[in-house]
Amino acid sequence: MNEAELVETPAEALVSTSTGADWLSRYSSSLMGVFGTPQRVLVRGAGALVWDADGKEYLDLLGGIAVNALGHAHPFVTSVISSQLATLGHVSNFFTSPTQIALAEKLLAITNAPAGSKVFFANSGTEANEAAFKLARRNSSGTRTKIVALEGAFHGRTMGALALTAKEAYRAPFEPLPGGVVHIPFGDIEALRAAVDETTAAVFLEPIQGEAGVRPLSPEYLRAAREATNKAGALLILDEVQTGIGRTGKWLASEDAGIVPDAVTLAKGLGGGFPVGALVTFGESTSSLLTAGQHGTTFGGNPVATAAALATLHAIESQGVLVNVRNVGAHLRAGLSDVDAVTEVRGEGLLIGFDLDADIASAMVTAALDAGFIINSPGPRTIRLAPPLILTTEQADRFLDALPGIIRAAAQTAKDAQ
Ligand SMILES: *Cc1c(COP(=O)(O)O)cnc(C)c1O
Repeated sequence: MNEAELVETPAEALVSTSTGADWLSRYSSSLMGVFGTPQRVLVRGAGALVWDADGKEYLDLLGGIAVNALGHAHPFVTSVISSQLATLGHVSNFFTSPTQIALAEKLLAITNAPAGSKVFFANSGTEANEAAFKLARRNSSGTRTKIVALEGAFHGRTMGALALTAKEAYRAPFEPLPGGVVHIPFGDIEALRAAVDETTAAVFLEPIQGEAGVRPLSPEYLRAAREATNKAGALLILDEVQTGIGRTGKWLASEDAGIVPDAVTLAKGLGGGFPVGALVTFGESTSSLLTAGQHGTTFGGNPVATAAALATLHAIESQGVLVNVRNVGAHLRAGLSDVDAVTEVRGEGLLIGFDLDADIASAMVTAALDAGFIINSPGPRTIRLAPPLILTTEQADRFLDALPGIIRAAAQTAKDAQ
């Protein structure tokens, strides 16, 4: 190829074409088995729709696990990313760039951060939580050793975030993990008050536990956590990696509790599909806990990632997306509550969990794919939806109309398997 041809070459020209089945066999010979077999090979997306290698269309009700806030291939986000990449792609943290600074300012504004608040950029949720873990370690000059997290918590897969994560199957193979983390019963205010003392560096909470099946903490619980941490001198750190950036119809899921946390972590939806994470620290004293040289990153805050996030926030704000999330979310939850086999519907905005009356959730994921819908099962009886925030009422109705058939097909599969 000459240089002119290279410029014209799309990514798909760099790979040979295969059918979905061929791709999956190539996948299993070349990729590490940590994810199991992927459900489909996806090649293209537009808004809330995606297409697989065999040309089948799906309505994406998972959005890359709460990541594709504006759906796939959003024209504005795509154009901002492309033009930033064509202007200046990476500079290292020896330097800064306008989009990095503008995004930090924007995050402080949308999180209502008080004077002295600051931002640290990372590339993922787990990295944002690693930064928060290190911040917590610097509380009281490092003399506090205990960190409190909740049963059911998911904070990521790197060693510090994994120490905060509760699930035994994720933790056990990698012990010993960074020490000092205790997990207390979910939503139990008395257990929280008993656990938080003057040896506690921080309390980590997800306002809604996503991986545990969309389990919300009450505003009272968040307020009690603020009170207990204030009293003990511990930091209150909210992991809004899944719940933040409009997912619940608000910038932060914790907004309604009326508290000011010490730090919030963000990632998933922040870059509209581009990898970007952030730790926002509230107030001068928390923001100065990590000093020059104590933390760092090569890619974090890179011009393209921060441009992607700026574009995402701008589109959410200027296109009335938060209102759409509240309306379509309420519509979807109401419709789900009317389905016979559905025993409980949880969540807020477009982060929705619902339980079935039998262990058919994983069979439902398969039946939904066959019917052209992408959904997720975080538990044997639980389905999670985290669609693009631009999902329309009509698209929600398409799923609600198909759901009884999906449930019947899944129940049949489960029966046949017995
Ligand atoms: C997804 C998630 C993480 C981890 O984010 P990664 O980008 O996968 O590292 C952390 N916390 C919560 C609440 C999440 O949902």
